[in-house]
Amino acid sequence: MGDDARGDLGDRAGGDVGIAVVGVAGRMGQMLARAVIEAPGARLSGVTVRPGHPWVGRDLGEAMGGAALGVTVEDDPLEVFARSQAALDFTTPEATVIHSELAAQARLTHVVGTTGLEATHLARLRAAGWHAVVVRAGNMSVGVNLLTELTRRVAATLGPEYDIEIIEMHHRHKVDAPSGTALMLGAAAAEGRGVALTEMSERGRDGITGARRVGAIGFASLRGGDVVGEHQVILAGPGERLTLGHIATDRMLFARGAVRAALWGQGREPGEYDMLDVLGLRGG
Ligand code: NAD
Repeated sequence: MGDDARGDLGDRAGGDVGIAVVGVAGRMGQMLARAVIEAPGARLSGVTVRPGHPWVGRDLGEAMGGAALGVTVEDDPLEVFARSQAALDFTTPEATVIHSELAAQARLTHVVGTTGLEATHLARLRAAGWHAVVVRAGNMSVGVNLLTELTRRVAATLGPEYDIEIIEMHHRHKVDAPSGTALMLGAAAAEGRGVALTEMSERGRDGITGARRVGAIGFASLRGGDVVGEHQVILAGPGERLTLGHIATDRMLFARGAVRAALWGQGREPGEYDMLDVLGLRGG
């Protein structure tokens, strides 16, 4: 996409960071494109959808139901990555690992918001991180990342006699559970306690479960309506209960965080990072 083809977006400075959005037709993809266009220091260098998607070849603005943006929707990430310095990826685990290999070859900053990644996907992202910057977070908002750090500290302070339960609610279309954010909060609680989340998590309780295991970290997922994302960390102890929480009301919050991560990644050493690194919130 040449600058002259970008209509009223065409007057961006040539030194701006070229940021691509993959999976642009998705709920988050559309937000990400808007966030790149609005961000100072950033330029939308290209957008993709999965091959065969009806948006291929169309103008992005028109495909999203608005005015033309002069950005054509493509289906080959390799071509788009070749003219970009960063790629924002909120798609599916299968698509994300393919994008991560292409992004590593092109030495792009790969910002991964996709959740539901399993060990095999994570191993492939780790390999990509040897060659390029990968910033991955189950939640890109400042508030949730602060909550993560608070959870780690509170869990470190209160002993296992405080039962930790993590509750999340999301819109009816969400396909994975618990949410990436809930798992992030669980991992922070486990880290605070010096235990492995994989050994302590209790998920999907049903029927005669027996009494709660001492030190377990429980998860409960609610789905319905158009809820953007709500999380609560409950620490229930003898005679008192602490509740830490976060409510997201606008997906642009995550999109702006992703753009911030893409800009932050420029010129960094290859490696795997998260939003605590980007936001400077990583505690000692
Ligand atoms: P969505 O289903 O609306 O969008 C996903 C998009 O990815 C779809 O448009 C799909 O066509 C596209 N896609 C699939 N395979 C592709 C491929 N090979 N190439 C290009 N595009 C492809 O879902 P959503 O609500 O936008 O969420 C997407 C992901 O982001 C989920 O994993 C969700 O949990 C996560 N998410 C993360 C955060 C965060 O802050 N980290 C915030 C919100 C959502």
